[in-house]
Amino acid sequence: MHELSLCEHLLDLLQDEARRHEFSRVTRIRLAVGQFACVDPDALRFAFDVIRRDTLAAGAAVEIDRPPGRVWCDDCAREVEVPTRLAPCPSCGGLRLSPRGGGDLTLVELEVA
Ligand SMILES: [Zn+2]
Repeated sequence: MHELSLCEHLLDLLQDEARRHEFSRVTRIRLAVGQFACVDPDALRFAFDVIRRDTLAAGAAVEIDRPPGRVWCDDCAREVEVPTRLAPCPSCGGLRLSPRGGGDLTLVELEVA
């Protein structure tokens, strides 16, 4: 399961941060899952709930943002935001688009105790 390995990676990241900044507990985590990411936020939440038992993130509130995907439009020669990977350019309707971001899971904010 893809979401489970992402969560393991996230937990590793939190443990690294905890060592570096000397905190022992995470109280809030804000994640961003791009619209282009092959990640189901519900599955992600579920996997994280399983994996974080008895860890520093056990009691943390988890928020998941879904930022729009960003693509480069060849016709407009600029970056635009689209709701889905297959949507046309919102300003010219063109389809000559290449992804520029929004495909990742990122840690946006961390509150610790
Ligand atoms: Zn365009």
